[in-house]
Amino acid sequence: MKAGLIGHPVAQSKSPIIHEYWMKQFNIEGKYELFDVEDMHLEALVKQLVTQGYDGFNVTVPHKENIIPLCKTIDSNAKKIGAVNMVHIQDGALYGYNTDVAGFIQNLKQSIIDFNMTGKTALVLGAGGAARAVIQGLKNEGINKIYLTNRTREKADILQQNFGSNVEVIDWDERESKNNEINLLVNTTSLGMVNKPSLIFDLNGLKKDAIVHDIIYNPLMTDLLRQAEERGLKVITGIGMLLYQAAPSFALWTGITPSVTLDLTNLVLR
Ligand code: NAP
Repeated sequence: MKAGLIGHPVAQSKSPIIHEYWMKQFNIEGKYELFDVEDMHLEALVKQLVTQGYDGFNVTVPHKENIIPLCKTIDSNAKKIGAVNMVHIQDGALYGYNTDVAGFIQNLKQSIIDFNMTGKTALVLGAGGAARAVIQGLKNEGINKIYLTNRTREKADILQQNFGSNVEVIDWDERESKNNEINLLVNTTSLGMVNKPSLIFDLNGLKKDAIVHDIIYNPLMTDLLRQAEERGLKVITGIGMLLYQAAPSFALWTGITPSVTLDLTNLVLR
């Protein structure tokens, strides 16, 4: 397998650990490299990877949108959210996918017994790239209502226009106002991440069976998740989404569908 990750920056990425683990497990020769490139060098790098016979690559910030014009086709999730995070190279052409959407949902399905979003209400914090994947995933699963809130309200309003009527924007200062209605709270902001400020969110008023999901995985247990756990709420960390978004990439590049195991999770968290 010849693959890698294109982004800027990429040095902190856990993706090499994940793909190298699977390569070793399935006795696949190859490499998963990190390519740190700025916008202006993206096209040249991609051409180089095609010429050198790469199977594909993952794409991260800030290239998830810029890669789209270079793709021959993109899948429906990538179209809906306007972001590609994985490319499969076949016969010299680029086929773009978004596996964040499925990664988010797959992880929820593994984490929640009798997962069913029908008739449910979620609150999504943040309106960046990850929020788009989360909203699309919840919509694909037939969620009834999504409240969306973001520090910069205009960005949330744009997402609302893209995603339609069952998404309702609430002001960032009013972010706890729907606590008594929500079944699932998802933090997609970068607040709570290592070296970032904490997320301030008052969990008072949440239903006893509400689920609190933080897609940040460094640290694994954010302040938000700790507070939720102290209240006896079910919590989901961000590591599963990361692992489940990687699996379809490996599957397309090698033809082997890998499993997300506890052993792999522990390795990535080390
Ligand atoms: P992004 O597009 O840069 O969006 C960042 C979001 O955080 C925006 O909504 C931004 O609000 C908000 N934010 C940043 N600083 C803030 C502050 N001081 N106060 C309030 N809101 C603030 O980033 P992204 O790609 O969506 O990623 C967001 C987070 O998700 C990152 O921590 C990333 O590591 C994580 N993530 C995890 C996975 C996974 O597999 N587990 C996948 C993707 C992303 P404004 O619009 O107001 O700036």
